[in-house]
Amino acid sequence: MHIDIITCLPRLVESPFNDSIMKRAQKKGLVEVNIIDLRSYATDGHKSVDDYAYGGGAGMVMMIEPIDRCIQDLKSQREYDDIIYMSPDGELFTQSIANQLSLKKNLILLCGHYKGVDERVREHLVTREMSIGDYVLSGGELAAAVISDAVIRLIPGVLSDETSALSDSFQDNLIAPPVYTRPADYKGWKVPDVLLSGHEAKIEQWRLEKATERTQKRRPGMLEKH
Ligand code: SAH
Repeated sequence: MHIDIITCLPRLVESPFNDSIMKRAQKKGLVEVNIIDLRSYATDGHKSVDDYAYGGGAGMVMMIEPIDRCIQDLKSQREYDDIIYMSPDGELFTQSIANQLSLKKNLILLCGHYKGVDERVREHLVTREMSIGDYVLSGGELAAAVISDAVIRLIPGVLSDETSALSDSFQDNLIAPPVYTRPADYKGWKVPDVLLSGHEAKIEQWRLEKATERTQKRRPGMLEKH
């Protein structure tokens, strides 16, 4: 998979890709992440990527020209499955969308900043718009990192134990069951006996019960889909 992240603040998005699972995925060659500085597509000496809003009002707007030049340049190098604009009013990002995206080959994630991008970018240049939740961030960079993380860990081979993504919350419309590690007794707070029993079928049964119980309590709507 190849992900291009377009941003006017590359440093804001870099560090999550330089550690842990996302770093390993790149090292293994399972994903290529390219962070592109929108300013290198600016047309003036000041490297401007934003300007005042027509009609007045507070806040700068990201200009269409550098974004278009950047996207056209990328498109001349490969074919993209989706060009996704990070937007608080976009489609709500979920585990099921993460699953879908993990099967794609080439993606562009476009990060807005300030008041957002000129509306014509949304009308003519992107194929999809995605939000990570009903709240407003200062920029799309953190959203792009969140989406990339959720997607990249689903690419086969990225997690060392491949079944581990499958047993995560939301993956089968169930919340994950509780997990424990040593010590078995900490200040009298004990690990459930069944987990120490070594009885695999009973452990599986217990995990399913706990997962169902937890889903019922925390995400009741999800159980209907299970
Ligand atoms: N004026 C816009 C918000 C702009 S926030 C509005 O009221 O809708 C600046 C940028 O941050 C946006 O262009 C978008 O790229 C990003 N952003 C903010 N909140 C986001 C969210 N919940 N999900 C994804 N991207 C978000």
